[in-house]
Amino acid sequence: MRLRVLGCSGSDLPGYNLTSFLINETILLDAGSVTSSLSLSQQSMIKEIFVTHAHLDHIKDILFLADNLIELVVRDGHGPVRVRGLKPVLESIQSHLLNDTIWPDFTILPATTNPVLERNPLAPGEWVNVQGLRVAAFPVNHAQAASGYVFWQPETNSHFAFTGDTGPTHDWWDFMNGLPFSLEHLIIEASFPNGMEHLALLSKHLTPRLLRKELDNLKVRPKVFISHMKSPFSMEIQEQLQQALTGYSYHLLRDGEDIDF
Ligand SMILES: [Zn+2]
Ligand SMILES: [Zn+2]
Repeated sequence: MRLRVLGCSGSDLPGYNLTSFLINETILLDAGSVTSSLSLSQQSMIKEIFVTHAHLDHIKDILFLADNLIELVVRDGHGPVRVRGLKPVLESIQSHLLNDTIWPDFTILPATTNPVLERNPLAPGEWVNVQGLRVAAFPVNHAQAASGYVFWQPETNSHFAFTGDTGPTHDWWDFMNGLPFSLEHLIIEASFPNGMEHLALLSKHLTPRLLRKELDNLKVRPKVFISHMKSPFSMEIQEQLQQALTGYSYHLLRDGEDIDF
């Protein structure tokens, strides 16, 4: 399974892209920076979008992707792109963005029988088969509703889990400990430095210190991949991660890199 990091930053600044991963060229995991990263032909290969939560930095390019693809739907028989996530997450995107006020409703355009976007709600913990992979969403502690994801290819046992944005959380770790395989790769966030723990907790994010406490809930020690650092604090966060992740193998994600799981 190949993961391309289109964006992994918690801040939108020149040289820093918002959260978005492309899996095996056809699946998006969050959509914070898609249309600025991929050519139109690459965008046209996307069949599925898994959304962690409805915050703009994770979903804004669903809007622009839909706008880019409508011509292909009209002229070239391009089928709908399935947008998947927890039901309240999809409902928020629909009612607050795809409402014909902020943006056109691409779930009924260009025709109700042939839309650009199709909503596919996921039940927490339920495995679905998508493009040869098994995928499950499970709630985490962030926003009004949010989930992380597990992507798993059983034949090769290649897999990774992604928490998405989260503050300290509980049931997610039980779900991780109960997976049908031993977790080897975990993408998790570290948004703020330790000195901003109060703000991290209020906004339901992690600091390096909080991140380490979360990892201690796991029965295994996966390799840890860090995302969603707020750019102004990234040097401070990186220094604190060195201490917080003692005993762990970890990697700071970079925009544009490919990772083979
Ligand atoms: Zn968020
Ligand atoms: Zn975010």
